Amino acid sequence: MQIHLKTLGCRLNEAELETWAQAFQAKGHSVTRNLSDAQLVVINSCAVTQDAVKKSKQLIRRIHRDNPQAKLVVSGCYATLNETEAAQLMGVDLIVGNRDKNRLVEKALTELNLDSMPAMSTEPGEVSLFSRGRQRAFVKVQDGCRYRCTFCIVTVARGEEHSRPIQAVIDEINALQNQGINEAIITGVHLGGYGNDIDSNLVELISEILAKTEIPRLRLGSLEPWELPDGFFELFKNPRLMPHLHLPLQSGSDSVLRRMARRCKTAEFAEIVQLARAAIPHFNITTDIIVGFPGETEQEWRESYDYIQNLGFGHIHIFSYSPREGTKAAGLPDQIGQEIKKQRSKQLHALAESMKQDFVSANLGCLADVLWEGHTESLDNGMTRYFGYTPNYLRVACDVSDGASLENRIRPAKLQAARSQFIETVLI
Ligand code: SF4
Repeated sequence: MQIHLKTLGCRLNEAELETWAQAFQAKGHSVTRNLSDAQLVVINSCAVTQDAVKKSKQLIRRIHRDNPQAKLVVSGCYATLNETEAAQLMGVDLIVGNRDKNRLVEKALTELNLDSMPAMSTEPGEVSLFSRGRQRAFVKVQDGCRYRCTFCIVTVARGEEHSRPIQAVIDEINALQNQGINEAIITGVHLGGYGNDIDSNLVELISEILAKTEIPRLRLGSLEPWELPDGFFELFKNPRLMPHLHLPLQSGSDSVLRRMARRCKTAEFAEIVQLARAAIPHFNITTDIIVGFPGETEQEWRESYDYIQNLGFGHIHIFSYSPREGTKAAGLPDQIGQEIKKQRSKQLHALAESMKQDFVSANLGCLADVLWEGHTESLDNGMTRYFGYTPNYLRVACDVSDGASLENRIRPAKLQAARSQFIETVLI
């Protein structure tokens, strides 16, 4: 989706625009300078003077007039102080008050039902799943897919499977490590199929990487939950392989999975999750779910919801089904209306949030080797707050005295308390 961002007023408003731009991009959307190309427009309004109020209103009207098709989100001081008036202006779809500004991207995507499906399993979901940084890098080991999931355009767009030779992957990881990268995320369109065309498999690839590189942390990107070679979960006994898997389930209803032509039904998926959890305590399983797939009945939705709830996930990427031209699902009967998709998406977001909190709570009190990444400016108390990720991909923070640098270092910490965007830790 293309997004056009516009601001009036102070520097702070401009900075927020930049943050939103990055957050939209991290979720796989792009930012456009051309209003006419945008499907979504976000305006950061201003109310510092009456003139600023007037200009804010004019801008909203003009944008709606010039691109009436685009969804329009208005935030900022004018929208916060005059919420009712702003909400009634022609074309305004959503007001995000200043208090919710840090959740604007998420709110816009979910409340306007714009969180549509990724084109393929690893893009752009992968980018939004794993934060990029100077500490970690994606290493693509495979392209293409031989399956034909009915919602997926990948076989059309990417063609047959093609695996990179193991040595080429090892060389790339060694080169990255020499540049200071501490974590490599192994990705592929259908990662589980790695090696199919070169007489190898994923277990061989990972074992060789672990043996022939010294990268401290190796993580697997999105992995379709089938074709996992024998000995796969044994690999996680090596602490350099991070105990986190993103296994796209897509639906917790077998009849929906059949219509999606997925190769893994709910019983097999649950078995894989049990194996992972038995191999390593606090193994984090995250997933993708598509809500409102064509024909998804109320009963199937219930089944799916209950299954997801019973299994538990550390995080769920929720996508409202959107037909993609050229796929079989786009032509399936009984396409689901926007209102129902929105309701189901909202229910699942609430469930996902509470399951995430359960997973976080279960991890409190644990020790973890954290790869520390960026930090904030100095806090009021003169400390610096660093952020990082645990091996099982929980976002954590710790406050250290100014001057102490944790950047790109792996240091153990104790997980102390859950905050809304991270877990508070202390270094040990
Ligand atoms: S397994 Fe299915 S969803 Fe994944 S890339 Fe292949 S066709 Fe697409």
